[in-house]
Amino acid sequence: MALRPSSLYEAYIFDLDGTVYLGDALLPTAGETITRLRALGRRTVFLSNNPTHTRDEYAVRLTHLGLPTPREDIINSSVVMVDFLRRAMPTARLFVVGEEPLKRDLRDGGFELTEDAEQVDAVIASFDRTFAYRKLQTAFDAICHGARFFATNADRYCPVPGGGEPDAASMIAAIEACTNTRVEAVVGKPSRYMAEAILGLLQMPPEAAIMTGDRLETDVLMGLDAGMAAALTLTGATSVETLAASGIRPTYVIRRLGDLLPDGV
Ligand SMILES: [Mg+2]
Repeated sequence: MALRPSSLYEAYIFDLDGTVYLGDALLPTAGETITRLRALGRRTVFLSNNPTHTRDEYAVRLTHLGLPTPREDIINSSVVMVDFLRRAMPTARLFVVGEEPLKRDLRDGGFELTEDAEQVDAVIASFDRTFAYRKLQTAFDAICHGARFFATNADRYCPVPGGGEPDAASMIAAIEACTNTRVEAVVGKPSRYMAEAILGLLQMPPEAAIMTGDRLETDVLMGLDAGMAAALTLTGATSVETLAASGIRPTYVIRRLGDLLPDGV
């Protein structure tokens, strides 16, 4: 593991929560580093497992933080879920254990949403701060009636200032526990679906890109599995102790995004 790349990459893929910002503020050196990479003609794109915001909302947020970004340069797990379902079950009726932005993205993607368990073709589990027993009951009934079971992401918690919020892993676990059914596919990081979406957007070979994020088991693993370089930033969910105990070995370990710039750049 190196501390700093010795040369520039063509494209820089950034996780958002815990990597570029935390809560409402950019993390130290994030703004100037991304601005510098853009000035050097490098592509910068953003990847989030969090489907509680649409890509338009992410674009507005980054732009307000001083990083003007078009919606096309942001991919989150709801965008990848729409692509996945269009290929796997294009006419599926869905029951969504998730928040309004994900439901909107799925409806805009052409899918019908229903709460009638007998009508459900697939249950979609996600980060849901409105999770309730009634939703668990509907998911249970639907899967018992033969519905398939997918999830946007499998993060345990989402880092926020001062702590974290229980994320999609908790909703998946609740549904798995009562139905005794394993989730069939999780489309967010580290899945190949997410990696294919980002490489399709970049239109370049994986070796030309570097993935930077604060989580070993999602950001770093996806980058390495896809053939990219991967940098772990210690600004979010991962401590040096967690890194030492993990079998996942990032290409670089950085303390701030500024460490992505080679010496002298
Ligand atoms: Mg993160």
